[in-house]
Amino acid sequence: MLHTSYIEISKSAYRQNLKFIRSQLGDQVMISSVVKGNAYGHGIENIVYLAESNGIRHFSTFSADEAKRVYEASQRNSQIMIMGMVSDDVLPWVIEKGIGFYVFEFERLYQAVRIARKQGKEARIHVEVETGFHRTGFEWQERDALLRVLKENEAYLDFRGLCTHYAGAESVANYVRVKDQIKKYAEYKAWFLSHGIRFKTYHTACSAASLSYPETIMDMVRIGIAQYGFWPSQETYMFKFKHLADNMKNPLKRLISWKSQIMSVKKVKMGDFIGYGNSYMASRDMIIALVPVGYCHGFSRNLSNLGKVLIHGKILSVVGTVTMNAISVDITDLDNPQKGDEVVIIGRQKRNEITVASFGESTQQVNYELLTRLPQDIPRRFRS
Ligand SMILES: *Cc1c(COP(=O)(O)O)cnc(C)c1O
Repeated sequence: MLHTSYIEISKSAYRQNLKFIRSQLGDQVMISSVVKGNAYGHGIENIVYLAESNGIRHFSTFSADEAKRVYEASQRNSQIMIMGMVSDDVLPWVIEKGIGFYVFEFERLYQAVRIARKQGKEARIHVEVETGFHRTGFEWQERDALLRVLKENEAYLDFRGLCTHYAGAESVANYVRVKDQIKKYAEYKAWFLSHGIRFKTYHTACSAASLSYPETIMDMVRIGIAQYGFWPSQETYMFKFKHLADNMKNPLKRLISWKSQIMSVKKVKMGDFIGYGNSYMASRDMIIALVPVGYCHGFSRNLSNLGKVLIHGKILSVVGTVTMNAISVDITDLDNPQKGDEVVIIGRQKRNEITVASFGESTQQVNYELLTRLPQDIPRRFRS
């Protein structure tokens, strides 16, 4: 093993997650697989491959660099949509390749028209409207001006989508705000239609909205976290739980497992300090395994004297501080531990499991953050 750890991605879990998501959406709804943040840490290329093998033909990214990776990885000529950053200098490439992108300000709209005209090609735009998220999107007062620009340049614009994003559909605390957004979006849609502009797709829902607000499911949904096997929040799960069949209470499966191995084994005497400083003193004669995963690999320093890993199927404690490249694990109670034995950092081993959530709880990170912080250079490999 060249690297100190690797990440496994389960194909069957992905298949199962999609099956569940599709069951919630019905047959008519297109799923856009959201692969921003290196596909939530899974690796864009891996998820493009997996998703396409499971019939997905649409991907959403935040930025142009991610879109380029999808473009290069795609074997099925899938559609790509950039929801965030495209700088002016790469917009020509984006338009030339037929990649869709959000337009949320006149500046970008003018640029798109200018480049599309020059290329003799339509720019595939998704018009983002402000409904209450207050980050990006055209304002209601701008609609007349927007309509005018869209109509005047119809020849160079492909009205791919009308979209918005909800400000926290994963928590009932935002219920009123989300409901207002749903209403506001409907007003934009109706207004454009009444003025002769029909968009090819209407899309607003992320995972949480799709699961908790069925009325947000339109032609297309943008599914991120759920395809990776996580509920957007505990609340979303609780909301759905009572509607799940008894044999399907846990329909979303984590794709990811993170594994390493014991690098070396060492005996430590009672009273010895382990690692840097004096944060851990051996309270008995101990056996310690060094595991070559540290904060440079995304194993947070906050897990010093707190983290858990699995070896021989047992839950074992990190002792001492997490260093840049390694942790020490108390393996005193294991039967004949050996260099090279598998260490599970996230995932299952025999009857025990360390979930991303439990891993995250002790570091105050949400699933989204923990996943996307897994360094890109840890190798990812598939498992059936
Ligand atoms: C990230 C993102 C999504 C997907 O969100 P999930 O909660 O992961 O499903 C959808 N739409 C937009 C605009 C996003 O930025």
